[in-house]
Amino acid sequence: MPNEVASSRGQRWRARLWRMLKRLVAVAAIGLLGLWIYAASFAPEREDWDGQRAALAGRTVQPLPVQPDRERLLADVRELASDKYGGRRVDTEGGRLAADYLVGRLRELGVEPLVPDYRQPFSFQRRRIRQFWTGGIETRGVNLLGLIRGGKRPDDHLVVSAHYDHLGERGGRIHPGADDNASGVATLLAAAAHFKANPPAHSIVFALFDGEETGIAGARHFVDSGVLPMTGIRLNLNLDMLSRSSDRLLFATGTWQHPELKALVDPLRAQAPIVVLYGHDQPRPFWDADDWVHASDHGRFHEAGVPFLYLGVPDHDDYHRPGDTFAAIHPDFFVDSAAFALSLLAAADAGG
Ligand SMILES: [Zn+2]
Repeated sequence: MPNEVASSRGQRWRARLWRMLKRLVAVAAIGLLGLWIYAASFAPEREDWDGQRAALAGRTVQPLPVQPDRERLLADVRELASDKYGGRRVDTEGGRLAADYLVGRLRELGVEPLVPDYRQPFSFQRRRIRQFWTGGIETRGVNLLGLIRGGKRPDDHLVVSAHYDHLGERGGRIHPGADDNASGVATLLAAAAHFKANPPAHSIVFALFDGEETGIAGARHFVDSGVLPMTGIRLNLNLDMLSRSSDRLLFATGTWQHPELKALVDPLRAQAPIVVLYGHDQPRPFWDADDWVHASDHGRFHEAGVPFLYLGVPDHDDYHRPGDTFAAIHPDFFVDSAAFALSLLAAADAGG
């Protein structure tokens, strides 16, 4: 081949490559600009946690109106976080033992079963990367559903929920899930004890969900099952991680979607011995983990149009780690945050 031909061909290729590169850079720049405009359209700083904190600093702390039985509350967490339950993973022996224990507790408390033997079984396909194309692993879970019937408005329901499953064993180590979420489960049981002693106006459903850690599967099944019409649910109060915060800090998530619920929370947080902040609910970019609206069971209720409030602590170092043990929770803080949840539920029952 003559040299001139080869070199002019080489020039053409270089020119073509250069054009492609320029196009690529232009497309990337437009993409980045788009993402920047998208991200800038959110303004989560309006949640103003520092400002809320400052406003609450001068509050007069008073005992919250509803207090849990401290020993019972801690005993339930200690039990569920013990090795016997192996980390309570959905569709494991440990998970089934935890369900047995909780059915026993609901029965002992005199809560009525909403479904036979309190158990609502379900199954779902659990997908991992390896099974992405092949359809996943058939996984069986069981929600536990109890009811205390309302005296004045029996057809209007409040649903208090907490997931009882956790991660099981990973890397040969049990993940006890004391805070996540034995703490929410124990608080739910304390609420059941309170309303057995103080009959509510609304009907209250106590929903212990399975499969939360594997795609919020239990709550999804509950919402889709029609066991309770969504239109009759006035509020879902979801409890997930209430027992561990060195700052004695609890978030109440959901008032951005339902500002009217602040009327229930405001008077309680103005007297609570813990700091309760609104937040984690303003729309954020999809990659922002600070958006908690769909992070736990309440997300399914929200998608079904049910007003929700979620209570939970900020993530801590032992979140989803073997160190989430009973010994590591903060018992005094936990009793106060459980009291906050119980008082909030009582206020929701007393209100319209
Ligand atoms: Zn959780």
